[in-house]
Amino acid sequence: MLYNECISVVKGIGEKTQKIFNKMEIYTVGDLLEYYPRNYDIYKTIVPINTVRQDETITIEGFISDSIQLKKVRNLAILSCRIQDSTDSIKVMWFNMPYLKNQIKLGARVILRGNVSRKNGMLTMVQPKILSKEEYYKTLNIMNPIYSLTSGISNQTILKAVRSIIDEVEFNNEYLPFKFRKKYDLIEYKKAVKNIHFPKNKEDLIEARHRLVFDEFFMFILALAKLKEDKTIAVNNFNINNGNKIKDEFIKKLPYTLTGAQLRTIEEVIKDLESNKSMNRLIQGDVGSGKTVVSAIALLIVALSGYQGVVMVPTEVLAKQHYESLKEFYKDYDINVGLLVGSMTAKEKREMYASIKANEVDIIVGTHALIQEKVEYNNLALVVTDEQHRFGVKQRENLAGRGNGTHVLVMSATPIPRTLAIILYGDLDISIIDELPSNRLPIKNCVVDNSYRKTAYNFITKEISAGRQAYVICPMVEESEAIEAENVTDYAKSLEMELPPFINVGVLHGKMKAKEKQEVMQDFFENKTQVLVSTTVVEVGVNVPNATVMMIENAERFGLAQLHQLRGRVGRGKHQSYCIMISDHQSEDTKKRLEIMNKSNDGFYIASEDMKLRGPGDLFGIRQSGDISFKISDIFTDAHVLKQANDAIKEASDKELEEIISNNAWIDNKLKKYVGHTTL
Ligand code: ADP
Ligand code: MG
Repeated sequence: MLYNECISVVKGIGEKTQKIFNKMEIYTVGDLLEYYPRNYDIYKTIVPINTVRQDETITIEGFISDSIQLKKVRNLAILSCRIQDSTDSIKVMWFNMPYLKNQIKLGARVILRGNVSRKNGMLTMVQPKILSKEEYYKTLNIMNPIYSLTSGISNQTILKAVRSIIDEVEFNNEYLPFKFRKKYDLIEYKKAVKNIHFPKNKEDLIEARHRLVFDEFFMFILALAKLKEDKTIAVNNFNINNGNKIKDEFIKKLPYTLTGAQLRTIEEVIKDLESNKSMNRLIQGDVGSGKTVVSAIALLIVALSGYQGVVMVPTEVLAKQHYESLKEFYKDYDINVGLLVGSMTAKEKREMYASIKANEVDIIVGTHALIQEKVEYNNLALVVTDEQHRFGVKQRENLAGRGNGTHVLVMSATPIPRTLAIILYGDLDISIIDELPSNRLPIKNCVVDNSYRKTAYNFITKEISAGRQAYVICPMVEESEAIEAENVTDYAKSLEMELPPFINVGVLHGKMKAKEKQEVMQDFFENKTQVLVSTTVVEVGVNVPNATVMMIENAERFGLAQLHQLRGRVGRGKHQSYCIMISDHQSEDTKKRLEIMNKSNDGFYIASEDMKLRGPGDLFGIRQSGDISFKISDIFTDAHVLKQANDAIKEASDKELEEIISNNAWIDNKLKKYVGHTTL
């Protein structure tokens, strides 16, 4: 079997499964092999029920001690019972498996393996597998891969497919010369792929992962280097030379004075804009450091010089927000700002395309809709991407390619140390906004348990009575988006009952349509709703400076990067702000992590402490929560491998690199895909 053969050759993959795989971007045998597990279940021995903790996958044995109940909630069939052993008992729940009712009987002895979570405050085993004695012993201590799933496909299906081909495939894509494998202690590619799916022990896994992380960084850096090579000649003929004058006039009218770091950054940007070499600049600044106004000045300069500028953001909510704030910034200027987002009607879009082409709009704010083929810019001089980790490098390139030497400005709040940033953003110059506006009061934090919730609600009421607003974040629910939506809606309902009647509560979750989200956000902007109950949808970039309380339920479920982003939604104005992290989880690790949040509001400090806590070699700690997502690597805990890959590329002679790239269609393909597909 060949690496690039279609997956339809794999035993057991029929037409239907193939379609689902294709949706997951798995087309070839190689794609399937490169679909790495996101984690592993190590099936351990049976534990006593009184030692069971939240968020653990465990095996228990006991008898069914309570009547078995089948309940229907909307379109969900929920089957529940209790399991008792000699130490304690625990509730067990299955979703949409009503046929189990005939399999489990009151008083029967069962072995169950599954994840424990908290439902209505009670430890509950959710959707466990029922094991026979034989199955139990056969799987003991085995590391079982857990793959990311999409609807219609089970872990078992992926596992079986991978297992059936892993020894059949001809690997002929070892690209890395022995010299480098030896120096950086890297195992062969083939062995790494085999062991990442089916490691016999932790050492196997660490070795395999090291090699694959190295590959990922190696190819990423190589791809960036190629990009840079192609770009060094990018020049422009834009006639921009009034930058400083425009800036000075604009900032005179601002209701605040800019920080030193903002001023320094704007000056760097102006220098770039006025040069005939095209700008490629990253602005890195913590949440709330005031990146938007910097981009607004750059766009103003471009527009007043007679050119177009675009701002690309990852969500429609953010697009609308930027659109409104730019209009406000430019209200004294003769500048037209346009909005272009996916949820607009075909007619609205057509009209916007026409206005853009006819140069009737100067600045266009939008989402992915901006890079659609149909958009023809009139004289595009500047592309700004905000919270850029959501966009591929290629998308940025695509937009820049619409103009002639278009300037590119990228803004990010991800706190990467400079040495790493230089490697990861190899094609960009870097400006850092390392200072918060001086009118800011540091956010006051607290980490508390469930018993504090009532006090927190009273506190929120007090803040709202003083004119402020609050966010409440519910955690994600793993089972499904539908349950998640229900969860958030229920929470909001009961919260509304707890709070006095003059307080209006809004709800925001991932299942809502773009238009609905827009309306909910608009109501919150306008203070028509005072509390916004939300999932992490609200995480990126939202700016409502009047909001002063961020309350996070189940704070232990979030990664530190995510908590920091969430907290960054408050403390954006002159009022004292607060972050209340609620957590009943008592593990040492959680305590330490939340303590870091409690102690500091500084994104760089948090990232570095987080890394110390997780340490290099932490296998799968952060991928679900970080901003920058590689397929398998973590830029923070794998920083040493990033350096290794960078060193290897520096050490390799041009001839060696040439040899690595040519003669290898596989890697060539990867490089092309890489620049397009990375979410960096
Ligand atoms: P971010 O860097 O997270 O994108 P924003 O640009 O949204 O932050 O700015 C956050 C808030 O701070 C906004 O309400 C903005 O008006 C305000 N702001 C920006 N710069 C200053 C400043 N120098 N002084 C006071 N407030 C500022
Ligand atoms: Mg922002």
